[in-house]
Amino acid sequence: MEYAEVLIDQVTDALDRPFHYHIPPELQGKVKPGCLVKVPFGARRCQGYVLRLLREPDIQEAKEIMALAAPEPLLQKEQLALISWLAHRYYCRRIEAVHALLPAGYRRGKTGGPRRKRLVRAVPGAAEADLSRAPAQQRLLRVLLERGPLPPAEALKAAGAPGSALKALQKKGLLSLEELLPEAESLPPEEPPVLQEEQQAAYKEIRAALAESAPRKFLLHGITGSGKTEVYLRLIRDCLEQGKGAILLVPEIALTPQMIEHFQRRFPGKVALLHSALSPGEKVEAWNRIREGRAPVVLGPRSAVFAPLEKLGLIILDEEHENSYKQEEAPRYHAREVAWWRTRYHRGVLVLGSATPSLESYYEGLQGRSAILTMSSRVTPGDLPPVEIVDMRRELKEGHRLIFSRRLLEAMEQVLGRGEQVLLFLNRRGFASFVLCRECGYVARCPRCAVSLTLHLEGEGMICHYCSYRAEVPRTCPGCGGVQIRYFGAGTERVEKEVRKLFPGEPLVRMDSDTTTRRGSHQQLYRRFRAGEARILIGTQMIAKGFNFPGVTLVGVITADTALNLPDFRAGERTFQLLTQVSGRAGRGPREGRVIIQTYHPRHYSILAAAEHDYLAFSQQELQRRRELSYPPFTDLIRFLFIGEEEEPLWAEAEEFARLLESYREYGEILGPAPAPLFKLKNYFRIQIILKGERLAALAPSLRRAVLAFRSRKPPLRCRLSVDFNPQMVL
Ligand code: ADP
Ligand code: ZN
Repeated sequence: MEYAEVLIDQVTDALDRPFHYHIPPELQGKVKPGCLVKVPFGARRCQGYVLRLLREPDIQEAKEIMALAAPEPLLQKEQLALISWLAHRYYCRRIEAVHALLPAGYRRGKTGGPRRKRLVRAVPGAAEADLSRAPAQQRLLRVLLERGPLPPAEALKAAGAPGSALKALQKKGLLSLEELLPEAESLPPEEPPVLQEEQQAAYKEIRAALAESAPRKFLLHGITGSGKTEVYLRLIRDCLEQGKGAILLVPEIALTPQMIEHFQRRFPGKVALLHSALSPGEKVEAWNRIREGRAPVVLGPRSAVFAPLEKLGLIILDEEHENSYKQEEAPRYHAREVAWWRTRYHRGVLVLGSATPSLESYYEGLQGRSAILTMSSRVTPGDLPPVEIVDMRRELKEGHRLIFSRRLLEAMEQVLGRGEQVLLFLNRRGFASFVLCRECGYVARCPRCAVSLTLHLEGEGMICHYCSYRAEVPRTCPGCGGVQIRYFGAGTERVEKEVRKLFPGEPLVRMDSDTTTRRGSHQQLYRRFRAGEARILIGTQMIAKGFNFPGVTLVGVITADTALNLPDFRAGERTFQLLTQVSGRAGRGPREGRVIIQTYHPRHYSILAAAEHDYLAFSQQELQRRRELSYPPFTDLIRFLFIGEEEEPLWAEAEEFARLLESYREYGEILGPAPAPLFKLKNYFRIQIILKGERLAALAPSLRRAVLAFRSRKPPLRCRLSVDFNPQMVL
């Protein structure tokens, strides 16, 4: 084989096809499929990936490969096959698929051996040293005493100290520099608990499938607190015993130090953590450990589904219904689908775990395409808490205008009086979600996005939550000059202010993306509340997930309606999931819990079903509604989104594309072109067309070609066109 098919490493439509190159004699036998090579391209030199080797080129005078950019192939056989599948399933360019599959450090040819990681640590008693005459050393020591052992560079940066300060402290014997043991082997191993009946039953079923050689899919539907994680841990252990690796995917937000530690203690030295906060070097290191079989247990968010385990026996998606499993930029893949692709490739087992399965997964189970396993009791003593719904329309009618209903206030007083903890949930940050003139109805809007500005009290004025545009709160209305400017739609800041007024002196913690952006602050707030230093926790969906606070006996949902009012066919599903999750935070300790949900839609089926902890009732109604409206899981959607600075040409291009789509009319319904729900975002206009049909995956080869041709035609397109197969959000 003297020729190679090479995919040029450049993200453009025109280069989405491989080019043929000759392999010079000195490189023959060394250039293999998956290798990164240097090639001439036009007048330039480029890098590219070898997809296959060929006997014959498709052109007369194929140019020559210049060199190997890395000695060994970066892409394995499985990955080469996956690239093609990703490109077709998600309408991405092949090279975008490659980029999703490989860590960035790798692609620059840095595949080299792992760098040794070291940590500096303050020795016991170092705090007593007198460093008053060496301020930099003092700062460095203080950082280490406060934050624990750190990589040298990080410690110096945090202290704003030069490297010499570190050396000096080392000389004084106040610091020790130590090797970081591979994946915290130093932690004591942990003994697994005895499984309870339902756990055992689910575990046995899946374990049996692990021993088979046909791919299998399970939906593990277990209520919060039913002990799903323990089932995962057993399965992973079995998988390792069979000499195969396992991937556990979790939503990024659930990847807490507690969770990581749990896994490291169960599988000492065998866990690779793939996390978005890793540096490129750390990612390459983790990647190498996985590829070489040193870390057969992979833990990470969405992108960890690509972990290069050579022998893969098991993939688990915890909280499989989470949006974050869908990538919102190219390749717009869903980790659940990629996981199933890989499971089939390896003839392994896929486990989808959730207390509130996505309708897609649940329907699949009903159809027999996966096996549904149910765990309906909690492992820890105590049942799911009773939930009360408070009709806020009635509160208003009876003259109660506070953001807390009388019911909730009373419950808060009782719980705090008993020294227990309260969690207040509201899925909206800031103080008020819009600023309005009472006289003329003027609403302060972002000039760059089609949304209202959110008021933030903490010295920041009004902020756009989509593009971060800021403006001062107007004193008089820019519309009519009136002075009746008012704030509406309470956010977490407003709740905090009200609580401080109603319970003066009561310490509280607020957790939302405004209070947790600083590294480590999330942990700090979490610890404060968990340790009981504060008895009220106010937060957004950040607190709904995964957290376990045994002291919480009351959960108050300030308004259940935020997600319900979104212009999205999944609004009902999101609301049910969120309410179920938040409710699950109550009564996880020895004392019984209680949940109060405030809403303006007290008869909505999502809210009623969540209050009854009744997934079956919810899914039946929601499936029926989806069937009537022909939405997923009964159909596929393809969203074509046109984005441009000017409105006119955008409509023209969208209409032209809609005409092209006419030839696919037999496959489904064409909706649009129409303004996207967010018509303007960051100064760009957005128009969409949605193709809705029963089986759209089959269209991919032909429709994808049509899209690429449309995008690379001459004269060039006057906008961007992105394609999303089964989008999670249509905003
Ligand atoms: P889920 O993920 O289903 O909401 P978790 O996996 O968080 O539930 O389990 C809840 C708690 O119960 C955890 O603290 C876990 O360690 C504990 N647990 C799980 N299984 C058992 C068991 N068989 N016996 C005792 N405790 C268990
Ligand atoms: Zn904006």
